[in-house]
Amino acid sequence: MALVPLVAFAALGVWYDLEQRQGRVDRNQMALARAGSLTTQAIVEGHMRTLESLAADLRDGTATDIEGLRTRLARYLAANPEWEGISIIGPDGWNTASPSTPPRAVFVGDRDYARTVLDEGRTTIGSAIIGRVTGLPVVVIATPVELSGTRHVLVAPVPTERLTQGIKERLGDARTLVIVDQAGRTIVHPDRRRIETLQDLSSQGVVQAALAGDSGTVTAKVDGVDTLVSYVPVERLGWGVLIQEPVRAAYAPLYRSTLLSTGLVGASLAAALLIAWILAGRLATIYSRLEQSRLDADAARGDAEVATERYADLVEGLDAIVWEAEAATFRFTFVSRRAEQVLGYPVDRWLSDPNFWADHIHPEDRQRALEFCRACTQQGEDHALEYRAIAADGREVWLADIVRVISDSEGTPTVLRGLMIDITERVRAEQERATLLIAEQDARGRAEAAVRARDEFLSIASHELRNPVAAVKGAAQLLRRLWERGQLTDDRIDHYSATMVEMGDRIGRLLQDLLDVGRLERGQFELRIDDVDLADAVRHVVDDVSTNLAAPRIHVGAAERSTRVMADRDRVQQVLQNLLDNALKYSPPDSSIDVTLHREAGGVAVRVRDRGIGLPPGSEEDIFKPFGRGPNAAALPGMGLGLYISRRLAEAHGGRLEVSSDGLGRGSVFTLWLPAIPVSVQQVPLEEIPAPAAV
Ligand code: ADP
Repeated sequence: MALVPLVAFAALGVWYDLEQRQGRVDRNQMALARAGSLTTQAIVEGHMRTLESLAADLRDGTATDIEGLRTRLARYLAANPEWEGISIIGPDGWNTASPSTPPRAVFVGDRDYARTVLDEGRTTIGSAIIGRVTGLPVVVIATPVELSGTRHVLVAPVPTERLTQGIKERLGDARTLVIVDQAGRTIVHPDRRRIETLQDLSSQGVVQAALAGDSGTVTAKVDGVDTLVSYVPVERLGWGVLIQEPVRAAYAPLYRSTLLSTGLVGASLAAALLIAWILAGRLATIYSRLEQSRLDADAARGDAEVATERYADLVEGLDAIVWEAEAATFRFTFVSRRAEQVLGYPVDRWLSDPNFWADHIHPEDRQRALEFCRACTQQGEDHALEYRAIAADGREVWLADIVRVISDSEGTPTVLRGLMIDITERVRAEQERATLLIAEQDARGRAEAAVRARDEFLSIASHELRNPVAAVKGAAQLLRRLWERGQLTDDRIDHYSATMVEMGDRIGRLLQDLLDVGRLERGQFELRIDDVDLADAVRHVVDDVSTNLAAPRIHVGAAERSTRVMADRDRVQQVLQNLLDNALKYSPPDSSIDVTLHREAGGVAVRVRDRGIGLPPGSEEDIFKPFGRGPNAAALPGMGLGLYISRRLAEAHGGRLEVSSDGLGRGSVFTLWLPAIPVSVQQVPLEEIPAPAAV
C-alpha cells in the first residue's frame, strides 16, 4: 500500500513527460503546417505579382492586335513554364487571345475569378479546377488588364502541384500535406485520385476551421485512422493547409522514449523498491528490536512499578516508622507515613527540621541516645536503642530504634536507615509488671518479715519470759522442799521471796513492754499530762533502781535551773527507768553512771552516761527499732523493745531520745529531751514492725 503513492507519482511523471513530448510533437506539426501555409501563400502571391506585372507590360505595349497579343502571351508563358497556360479574357467572358487557343473558343465569364476581376478590378485567384493539360487541379490566377480602354482579364492556370515545393522535403514519409481551396476541395494531396476528383472536404471540421481562419492541432479520424491533424489557414487566399500524420506514427518515437523512460522509471522504481524492501527489512528488524526493547522496558517499568507499589505497601503498611537520615547530621531524608500516626507531626516537619530527631527525644534520654548513636555511627556499627520521644500532643512515646549504618567505598558512614517501633504499650506493660513485681516482692517481703518478726517476737518473748518464770518456779519449789524438810528459815524465805518478786517485776515489765508496743502500734494510748519536775522523776527512778544494787553506782548531777516540764509522769519515769536499766545492764558492775539535767532549747535534757560496752558505729539508729539490738549485746538478756517504746513516748511528748557513743567498749550517752510545754498527744501511725536489727 505504501508504494501506491510512489507508483502514482512515477506514473504522473511519465504522463507529464508524455504530455510534454506530445505537446512538442503537436507544436512541431503545427509549425510545419504554418510553413506550408506561408509557402503556399508566397508561391501563389508570387504568381499573382508576376501576372500583374505582365498585365502592366501588356497594357503599356504597343501590340493591340490579336496576333501581337498571342506572341507576347507565348513569350510570357515561356518565361513561366510552371503555368499551364495564359490567356486574355474579354469583358464578355470569352477568350480573346491565348498562345494555343483560338479567340472566343472558351467562355469563362461565369467563373468566379472572371467575375471578380471584371466587377472589382483586382487580382484574384479562382477556385480549383482540373487542368486540361495535366488532368490535375489547377488554380486560375486572374488580374485585370486595360486593353484599348476596356478592362480585360489576364488569366494563368497554375498547377497546384507546384505549390508544395519547399515543404514536401520537410514533411517526411509519414506526414501528409493537404491543401484545400476556398471551397474545401482538395487541391494538394499525395493521393492522386483525391486531387483528380478535387475531393470535397468542406464537411470536415478541421477544414471548416481552417477556412474560417482558425488554426490548431487535433486528433481526428481520417479514413478510419486516428490521425494527428494540424490545420492552418492561408492568409488572403482563403485556403487551408492540413498536415496529417497517423497518431501511431506521430507519437511512435514518443511512445518509444516514453516506454524507455517508463522502463527506466519502472527499473528505478524496482530498484527503489528493492532498496526500500532491503531497507524496510532492516528497518523492520531495527523496529522489532526497538519494539522488543520498548516492550522489555515497559515490562521492566511495569515490574518496577509493581515492585515500587509492593515496597510502598510494605513500608507504609508496617506498624513502624521506616526512615533514612544523613549519617553526619541525623537529618531525616525519608520517613514513612506511619511517622504522622506515631508522633503526630507531619512528615514535612521530620524532613525540613534538621534537628527534628534530637529535638524530639525526651530530655532525660536525649544525651544518652545521641551519644550512643554518634559513637556507633562513627564505628560504622549497626545498632539498636530504646528511648522516649515527645509526641505533638505532649505524650511520651517509647521508641525502639533499629539502625543500619551505610558506608561509602572508603568506609565513611554516609547514610543511616532504620525502623522506629512504638513500644510504649510494651514498656508500660513491663513497667506495670515491674511495679507489680516490686509490690508483690514488697508484700511478700513484708509478709515474710511479719512472719519472721512474729517468730522472732515469740522466740524472744518466750526466751525472755522463760528465765524469770523458771526462776520464780525454782524459788517456789525450793521453798516448798525446804518447808517439807523443815529447813525453811526466815533468811531463806526472804531470799527466795525477794527473788520471786524481782522475777515477777521483770515479767511484769516484759508484759508491760509488750502491751505498750501493741498499744503504740494501734495508737491506743494516751498521756496524762501534768506538771512534772524531771529532777524529781530522775531521783525517784534512780532510787528505785538503786535498791537492788550492792553498791551505789548512779550519780545524779545537780541541775542549776528549773527542770519542770509538762509531761505524763509515769511515762517519763518509764523512759528514764529503761535508760538506767540499760546503763546498768550494758556496763561493768563496778562502773559508775552519771545522770545530768540541763535546760536546753526551750526544754529539759536528761543525759545518762555509762562506761559500758558502747555501740558499734552505725548502729545508733538501729537500736531504736522494734526488737533492735546491738550486735555486741547478744550475750545479755533483752527483747530490744525498751528503746523503741521510749523513743515513741519521747516523741509523743514532742521530745526526742538520742544516743551517742565513742565506740565499742567506750560507753554510751543517752539524751532524753522534752519540751517545756509538750504538744498535745500525738497518735503516730506506725509502720509495720520490721525485723529486729540483731538478736
Ligand atoms: P534490750 O535492752 O532489752 O535489748 P532496749 O531496747 O532497751 O532492749 O535496748 C536495745 C539495745 O540497745 C540493746 O539490746 C543494746 O544493744 C543497746 N543498748 C541499750 N542501752 C545500752 C547501753 N547503755 N550501752 C550499750 N548498749 C545499749
